[in-house]
Amino acid sequence: MMKIYHICECCQQIFDNTEVDGPEGAIGLQGICDDCANELGLYDNHTTSTQHFYN
Ligand SMILES: [Zn+2]
Repeated sequence: MMKIYHICECCQQIFDNTEVDGPEGAIGLQGICDDCANELGLYDNHTTSTQHFYN
């Protein structure tokens, strides 16, 4: 089993991990956890720009 760690590039925390078939081992994938996405306003931004577009 290969373990995939999703590491937040913002806070360096492992926020998710998955196992897939394959050779024994582990790899890290960079990403952004929900907390940081919220803090960075990634979700807000999307909503705001959509509303702005409508206005
Ligand atoms: Zn984070």
